[in-house]
Amino acid sequence: MFWDQASETLARPTLEHLQIKLLQETLHRVRERVPFYRQRLAELNLQPADIRTLAEVRRLPFTTSDDLRAIYPDGLLAVDRAEAVRLHTSSGTTGKPKAIFFSRADVDNAAELIARSLVSAGITAADVFQNMMSYGLFTGGLVMHYGAEKVGCLVIPAGPGTSERQLMLMQDFRTTAVHILPSYALYFASYLEQKGLRPRQDLTVRKAFVGAEPHTEETRRRIEQIFGCDVYNSYGLTEMNGPGVACECEYKAGMHLWEDNFLLEIINPVTNEPLPDGQTGELVLTTLRREAMPILRYRTRDITSVVPEPCRCGRTHRRLARFVGRADDMLIIRGVNIFPQQVERVLMSFPQVGRNYLIIVEGLDDLTIKVELTPAAFDGQLEHLEALQQQIIEKLRAEIWIRPKVDLVPAGSLPVGEGKAKRVVDKRSL
Ligand code: ADP
Ligand code: ZN
Repeated sequence: MFWDQASETLARPTLEHLQIKLLQETLHRVRERVPFYRQRLAELNLQPADIRTLAEVRRLPFTTSDDLRAIYPDGLLAVDRAEAVRLHTSSGTTGKPKAIFFSRADVDNAAELIARSLVSAGITAADVFQNMMSYGLFTGGLVMHYGAEKVGCLVIPAGPGTSERQLMLMQDFRTTAVHILPSYALYFASYLEQKGLRPRQDLTVRKAFVGAEPHTEETRRRIEQIFGCDVYNSYGLTEMNGPGVACECEYKAGMHLWEDNFLLEIINPVTNEPLPDGQTGELVLTTLRREAMPILRYRTRDITSVVPEPCRCGRTHRRLARFVGRADDMLIIRGVNIFPQQVERVLMSFPQVGRNYLIIVEGLDDLTIKVELTPAAFDGQLEHLEALQQQIIEKLRAEIWIRPKVDLVPAGSLPVGEGKAKRVVDKRSL
C-alpha cells in the first residue's frame, strides 16, 4: 500500500535529479535569507550553481548542534516571523534545546511524510491510533498526530499519561495501533502483567510504531511477542521535523528515508569522508523542501548505515539500518568503545530479564550493570540467580570485551522517568 506512490517509487535517476534541483533551490533560499549560511557559503566561495552533482554536496558546510544552539532562538529562520506557524524544540536529552520553526507548508509536509510512513506499514483510515508520546514542544506528539489524522485514523492524543489511563483508552476505543517509546512499551507490558492482563488476548493492538530512542532487534521481538503485534522502527529528530524522516515498511527490514525531502549522507565522523552504502558511520541530513528553517548537512551524531539492496516493497528511497546508537552515548571503558545497545542486545536475549536496566561507570572505569528480572525469574533461589548472573556476565564479556559486574534486581526497582529512557550513569564525568 502506498500513500503517494509516484513520489515513493521515483526511479533513482529521476529522484537524484530532483534532489539536485531542490538542493539548489534550498541554497538560493539560505543565501538570500539566512546570514549565517550566506557567510558560510561566501567563506567557501560557493555559488548554488556550483553544486551540480550529488558528489559535490560534500563541498557544502556542515551544520552542528552547537551551531543550532549558538543561533538560538531564531538565527536560521528563512521566512518572516509572521509566516512561521509552529515551534518545536528538541527534547534536550543532550543539553540545551534547539528551536525549529515550521511554516504552514512545512507543517503540512511533515504530516504528509508521516502519512507515507504509516501507510507503508499498512495503517489505514480504519485504524484507531493511540499516540502515547508527549504532546508539547516534543515533536513525537503533534507531528505524528497530524500525520495519522491525514491518513484518516481515529487518533487518540493520549500523550504520556499514566498506564492506567492508557489501558482504559485502549480497551474502551479498541486501539489497533500505537506510537510508543520502546522503553515505555516494556514498562507498560509489566504493568499489564501486574494487573493480570494478557495483552495478546485482552487488547486489540496490531501495530506499534516505536522510536525516538535507540533500541535493539531483541527489544522489538520482545514487544512483538508480548503484544502479539508488528513493531515498526521509526526514526526522526526535531531538527528534521521530528518523526517521519525514516520508517520501516511492511517488510520491517530497515527504515525508508524520504529522500525527496532529505538528502542523506553517511560519513566517517572523524575524517568527515563520505562512506559507501553498507558502511557504518554518522548520518548527515540536509532538508530539501523546508521553507521556514532549511538546514544544510546536519551532523545528527547518530550512527547507522544504508541498507545496500533495494526493498521488496518497490519504494526506491534507501533504507537506514537499525541505529548502532548516538555518538554521544558511546562509552570508552579501558580503551574499549561500547554502545549501550550492545548491552541491551545481550540482556534482552535472556527471557528472565525484565523491562529495565542501568549501566553505571564509576571509579577507574568500573562497569556495573543493574538488571531487572521478571517477577517469575526472581524466585528467591540463590543458586538459580547466581547461575543466571554468571551466564549474563559471560555473554556480555563476549560482546563488549570487558567483564562487567552484574547486579540482578527485582522488577520495578530501577528508576523510570517520563520520556526517553536514561540507560547510562557515568559517574566518572561528574
Ligand atoms: P533529543 O536529541 O533531545 O533526544 P529529539 O527528540 O529530536 O531530541 O530526538 C532525536 C534523536 O532521537 C535522534 O537524533 C536519535 O538519536 C534518537 N532516535 C530517534 N528515533 C530513533 C530510532 N528509531 N532509533 C534510534 N534512535 C532514535
Ligand atoms: Zn520497503
